[in-house]
Amino acid sequence: MIKSSFKLKLIFSYFFLIFASLGFIAFFLDRHIEEKTLQGIESALLNEARLIENQVSVPSALNNPPYLDKLCKDLGLRIGSRITVINLEGKVLADSEVPFQQVPGMENHLGRPEVSEVLQGRIGREIRYSSTLKIDMLYMAVPIEKNNVRAGILRLALPLTSVQKVLSAARKTIIVGLLFTLGLAFVLASILAKALIRPINRIIYASSRFAKGDFSRRIFHQGSHDEIGRLAATLNNMAQEIEYKIREVATKNQHLEAIFNSMIEGVIVTDRSSKVISVNRAIEELFGISRAQVEGKFFQEGIRNSGISELIAEAMSSARFISKEVTLVMPPQKILQANVSPLFDQEKVGGSLTVIHDITEIRRLETVRRDFVANVSHELKTPLTSIKGFVETLLEGALDDKENSVDFLRIINNHTDRLNALVDDLLELSHMESKEMSLSKTKFSLAPLVKEVMTVFGSQAKKKKVELSFELPQGLEIFADKDKIEQVLVNLVNNAIKYNKENGFVKVYSGQSKDGTKIVVEDSGSGIPAKDIPRIFERFYRVDKARSRELGGTGLGLSIVKHIIELHSGSVGVESTEGLGSKFFFIIPASSI
Ligand code: ADP
Repeated sequence: MIKSSFKLKLIFSYFFLIFASLGFIAFFLDRHIEEKTLQGIESALLNEARLIENQVSVPSALNNPPYLDKLCKDLGLRIGSRITVINLEGKVLADSEVPFQQVPGMENHLGRPEVSEVLQGRIGREIRYSSTLKIDMLYMAVPIEKNNVRAGILRLALPLTSVQKVLSAARKTIIVGLLFTLGLAFVLASILAKALIRPINRIIYASSRFAKGDFSRRIFHQGSHDEIGRLAATLNNMAQEIEYKIREVATKNQHLEAIFNSMIEGVIVTDRSSKVISVNRAIEELFGISRAQVEGKFFQEGIRNSGISELIAEAMSSARFISKEVTLVMPPQKILQANVSPLFDQEKVGGSLTVIHDITEIRRLETVRRDFVANVSHELKTPLTSIKGFVETLLEGALDDKENSVDFLRIINNHTDRLNALVDDLLELSHMESKEMSLSKTKFSLAPLVKEVMTVFGSQAKKKKVELSFELPQGLEIFADKDKIEQVLVNLVNNAIKYNKENGFVKVYSGQSKDGTKIVVEDSGSGIPAKDIPRIFERFYRVDKARSRELGGTGLGLSIVKHIIELHSGSVGVESTEGLGSKFFFIIPASSI
């Protein structure tokens, strides 16, 4: 619409200019032609008047009215003009257009302007509408002189129809010329306007693309240096600059987005009304939500955590940084450290930035460490208390009682053994946990190793009336740290005997697993309650504390097993039925065979 209206404006401006110029020319031309035509007619009429005056001024004519009348009518016919002869009193003496009889009845002509002009000594001239003939007439009057004395007035009148004919023919030509020129002007104006509009249209089209965010377009301007060319060049420069800036911002945004999403910490940005503007991937994972679900919604509506929501509200209302621990109740329970900073927009709080650390693991490790220290202290305290008690008893005189003192010393010895075993196990564990321990892997046959372990436990098994057996393919070999695997077998077989019943059995055999070689240590012992199975490999975890202690257990055997197998990238497990027995197994990955 704008395009066409501007074009029309241009066309009409050109058209109006040409029309106005031609109009003026036509008007002045018309006036000029009219003037010149009249002048020509006037001078011709004057000449005719002078000639006729010559014939009329003779006395024979002036004093002979019938003759004068005839003369006027003859000459009038010949020159095509009306001839009137008037005396000095204004009385008409003859008129070529009026019958002779009616002449005396004609109005006095003294009042006619052309007549009074002659009486004042000038040549009379007047254009007047003739009420007799109903047309414009040109009147020319000259004095009739007899012997240089004014004797009357000769008036010639010519209808101006001929002038008007000439003028209207000229006008027709002018109008036709005018119309033709205007038509041509219109066509030329359209072509010119089109040529002028074309670059503007290009600019409009490119600008509309710019407005839609497409800055890849450039306006073609043929290197023209006029105002439109310069405008196009400026717009092109602007588009290039914006395109460059947008690309720069987009790259920066991508970097920020990548950082934002790869952050381990969860980040939530809200506006001042607590509507979520943005969350990162860590938040999606932490709260089990998707970005699309929460962005644009109120925090409480989208993320639904009243603890964090209150912190955000508090940080924004106090305009201060707040850091607090928040517990996420939904299973699995999580402990989060929420750091909320108000975001300022022109010195006013305009939103909030919350950074959330998942400190569940840190807290769990802290608890494990605390429990571990408590457990170790407790484990050490019990034998130490006993040792101290017996030593004090001995010092207080029991030393003299030979029989009892030997028993006491044996008990002290047992407790020292326990302390030793505990310290050994603790050292072993800490050594493995520090990850400094490197495995010295070799390829070895399992059957001889198991046989050796069985031999070591032979007497202990006999004492408990437990039958030891193993069934392993002769060629079964694994690639592992032999000493460590021996320790695993020792711990498992030891437990299998310890927690067995009289006339029970312990069997070691192999099985296949998709992950590698599986070794099973099966016993017919007390078994493990299902509720304890998930925790059985934890340090100091025991099903029956008293029984374990009584049997000289440290509560660390299975955690050492687990560590060793995990160092081999393998896995451990147990299948057990309370009262029937247990099957402890470990898998050494095939890749390490
Ligand atoms: P402990 O030194 O107490 O034996 P472990 O870590 O070796 O410590 O074992 C942890 C606990 O697991 C034991 O106290 C015992 O309750 C249970 N347990 C281990 N092996 C067996 C088994 N073969 N049969 C029944 N219970 C077992």
